[in-house]
Amino acid sequence: MKKLKVNLHLIEACNYRCRHCFAHFDKHNVLTPETWINIIDNAVASGMVTSFNFAGGEPLLYPHLTSLAEYANSLGCKCSVITNGSCIDEEWIKNNVSLFTTIGFSLDSFFPDTLRKIGRCDTNGRVLDLDRIKEIFTLIKKYNPSIKIKVNTVVSAINKDETPGELIRKHDLPVDRWKILRMSPFENDRFSNKDITVTDEEYTEYITRNLSAFGINTISEKVLYNTDAGMEIVCESNLNGTYIMIDAGGYLVDDTKNSNYVRVINCADTPFSDGISKLTFDSEIYEARYKK
Ligand code: SF4
Repeated sequence: MKKLKVNLHLIEACNYRCRHCFAHFDKHNVLTPETWINIIDNAVASGMVTSFNFAGGEPLLYPHLTSLAEYANSLGCKCSVITNGSCIDEEWIKNNVSLFTTIGFSLDSFFPDTLRKIGRCDTNGRVLDLDRIKEIFTLIKKYNPSIKIKVNTVVSAINKDETPGELIRKHDLPVDRWKILRMSPFENDRFSNKDITVTDEEYTEYITRNLSAFGINTISEKVLYNTDAGMEIVCESNLNGTYIMIDAGGYLVDDTKNSNYVRVINCADTPFSDGISKLTFDSEIYEARYKK
């Protein structure tokens, strides 16, 4: 099997409140950096893991994000981070962007009204607009020209009729990889996003329209497409069982059992390989995501 990338959900807190967000964990755990180092060591010692993606919540709100990335780099691991971009400024980019081989932005729309309807805004309604996104992306490439910029877009009933692909192309945004994800419905006693799910047809229409913005007119069962300009577009309609995730409490979690996460092992005290053997994991989809 391909070496694994593990998503470390460093923190549950976020300054945004996206309606579709599946990072609404029940408790607000904040582990110490020492515990995360222990977890990183455990994953690397299994021999199965060569990269880490730092996620949240909003991982830039975790004060030890960059020191953990430095530590993982020192073990020879690649690091990436997925952020909502709201806490990033030139100083942060200049000081930290070399720690990462990829920086991902969750951007579901370029339209402020849509972003506010989604909840992808702070408590004052501030959003990341197109001008700011361009500015941030340009600065990132300036300070680390070899870094890959990734954009994640979650398709829900709120943004399903939009064509951000056109804007990415028209504004020549330096995006290396655009991942289009179908929103995963879930619900618990306090939270539900089931009212903004998209049908199979609506998701296919979104994919078709946005791929055609890049001149790709043949849609197949493929997960990964390549544009003429060299951008990868990854289309994923089913996320469950396709990511290795450690939650903010340090537990490896399985998202295939029901619409919430089921904890498998505590990675701070149980060998990582034991957890992987108990996890429901679709290695075919996982590998297709990275296949050229
Ligand atoms: S920005 Fe990300 S972590 Fe925060 S609420 Fe939205 S999807 Fe969830």
